[in-house]
Order: sequence, then structure tokens, then C-alpha cells
Amino acid sequence: MKITEVKTHLLEHRLKVPFESASMRFDRRQHVLVEVICDDGTIGWGECLGPARANASVVATYRNWLIGQNPLETEKIWATCYNALRDQGQRGLTVTALSGIDIALWDIKGKVLGQSVATLLGGRFRETVRAYATGSFKHDGVDRVADNATEMEGHKAAGFHAAKIKIGFDVDEDLRVIRAVRDVMGDDMRLMIDANHGYDVVDAVRLGNKAADYDIDWFEEPVVPEQLSAYADVRARQPIPVAGGETWHTRWGFAEPLARRVIDIAQPDICGVGGFTEGKRVADLASVHGVRVVPHVWGTGVQIAAALQFMSAMVPSPVRPNPVDPIMEFDRTHNPFRQAVLETPIEHENGVVAVPTGAGLGIEINRDALREFAMGDD
Ligand SMILES: [Mg+2]
Repeated sequence: MKITEVKTHLLEHRLKVPFESASMRFDRRQHVLVEVICDDGTIGWGECLGPARANASVVATYRNWLIGQNPLETEKIWATCYNALRDQGQRGLTVTALSGIDIALWDIKGKVLGQSVATLLGGRFRETVRAYATGSFKHDGVDRVADNATEMEGHKAAGFHAAKIKIGFDVDEDLRVIRAVRDVMGDDMRLMIDANHGYDVVDAVRLGNKAADYDIDWFEEPVVPEQLSAYADVRARQPIPVAGGETWHTRWGFAEPLARRVIDIAQPDICGVGGFTEGKRVADLASVHGVRVVPHVWGTGVQIAAALQFMSAMVPSPVRPNPVDPIMEFDRTHNPFRQAVLETPIEHENGVVAVPTGAGLGIEINRDALREFAMGDD
């Protein structure tokens, strides 16, 4: 069995209502899917986290080391590609692009063997995963406090048991938002906060100490991801558990944060950390240090399926079945192609998502949607 072609599908939707995190403005949704085709007709799908065109360019570069290879040799292909760009790579787009390829190869492996990726990763410990709603971005000219409260009412009505809100803009306004959403949620829903590295240590420590009264599960990306000493400072000087890792790549990217215990919760993204091959290694490494793993998810249904397969195979804590472990990030912002790329959308039901049971990722791609949402030239 050999790989005969590697393609990318660039997808885009221009938003009528732009939104912002503390570090990024979104006026369009852009994602890239990877399609790997084999000589026997088997096709695998993957997705890369981050800039679509740039990822596609790196995937095209890797193509040289993929054509003619046996797609079942996932470890060998991962190492070959990583080594090929290692000197100028090691993290960033070289790894996010490789992640999309690796996911597609595991999809192929599952289809060839008639097994789900979760089974091949070691076993389906769970058939459903609880989801948390991600949203509450900043919209132009809108009062954030009222906007977030209204949005949280929607998450609660939809049956979510947990939700994450965006902060990192202004400590005082962020605290007003936290108070307002906790008021709407009541005591039963879990609340997480994500600063998208919008604070420095001074603001993060102040926010964390004041927000701790609102029963917050984790404080995500308080400071920029390169500043591990700043992470350590935030973790030491305020009481909310610290989460991070959506921009840390490979086992080497996670090794130091885990060994120094600058986080309580590691958030590798399967479409960014290096795919299933590397995600498994990062999860194993986290278990060495007793750090909880809650994968980051921000993409189309392909990424959702990949995250679900990964989470299904995560080894449960030997100490106790943790009520929030694992928990699936479920993006609630506007993206019309997120589910349209799948023949069968993966939706939540009362805040719970079923892990696809079919072979590989357990999804079928809707090629009409790939054409409908194909990115333009500008
Ligand atoms: Mg985040």
C-alpha cells in the first residue's frame, strides 16, 4: 500500500459580525483540511491548526517525503517529515502541518483495519465525552457584560454543563463579565476563563485573586506562551488552576512546562501538537508529572472527530473518575462550514458528544461543502 497523492482544501467564510479574543481578531473563518490518497483508493482526512494558506504550503513541502510511502507506517513518516524540516522547524507551522498529515494517516490506518482511531490508540475508554461551550468573544460596539450574559443564557438553555469565556482585555471589565456570567450560570455549571495571553503577570495575578471567588475551573493562557517563568509566577501567586499548551508543539515543547509544573492542565491540540502520534506522547508525558490533559479544539468537524477519538482513548485517572476529565472544547462561534464539511454533523446533546464509531476518524466528508466554502484568491 502506497501514498499516491496529498492535497489540501482551503476553506473560508467571511463573517458579517467580526469577533476578537485578547490576541486575535476574526473577520473570516479559515481552516485547511488535508486529504491523503492511496493506491488502493483509501482516502484519509486531517486538519491543521492555524493559518490555512501557510499550513497548506508546508503540507505541499512535506509531499516530497510522503508520495510512495506506506501510509500505515505513521511513526516512520512522522520522523521522516520532522527530520526533513527539523533544522528550521521544531515548532510552529512545520508541526501544525505535520499534524494534519498524521491525522489523515491514522484515518487511513483505521479504514484499512476496520477500526476506529481510538481503538488503534489503545482502546475506547469512553463512548461519550462531556463538552464545554467556548464563546464569549468580544464584538465591536457591544457592551461585553450584557453580551456575555445573554450568550451564557443560550449555553445553559442548550444543556451545557460547562462553558469558557474570553477575558484578557481589561481586568476590571473582565471581572464584571465573570460576575455576570456566573450569575446567569448559577452554581451548577462549571466556568473556565481564557485570557488568550492578553495579560502580563501583574494583571493576571490581580484578576486571578479577585476571580477565584467565582468558582473557576481553570485560568487559560494567562500570559504569552514563551514566558514559562511568568506562567510559574501566575500559578504561584493566585489560586485558580492554570491551563495552557494550545501553542506548545511536540513532546519537546511540553517537556519543560510539565517538568517545571508551570501548568495544572495541559491543552495540546491534536491538529497542532503533531497529530495523534505526538499527542499520545504528550499525554503520556503529562501523566508522568500528574498534569491533567484537556485537549484544545478549534476547527471543523474533522478536528472535532480527531479530538473525540483522542479523548476516547485517554487513559482514565487511576485515582478517581474525574467529573471534568476529559472534557471536550465545543466552539459555539459562527462558522457555517464547521459541521457542513461532514456528511453527518457531530453535535452535542445536552452538553454530551458521542465518539464516532466508524473506521478511522468515523466521518465522511461532504465534498459539496468543500466546494461551497473554498477559499478565494485574496
Ligand atoms: Mg484558548
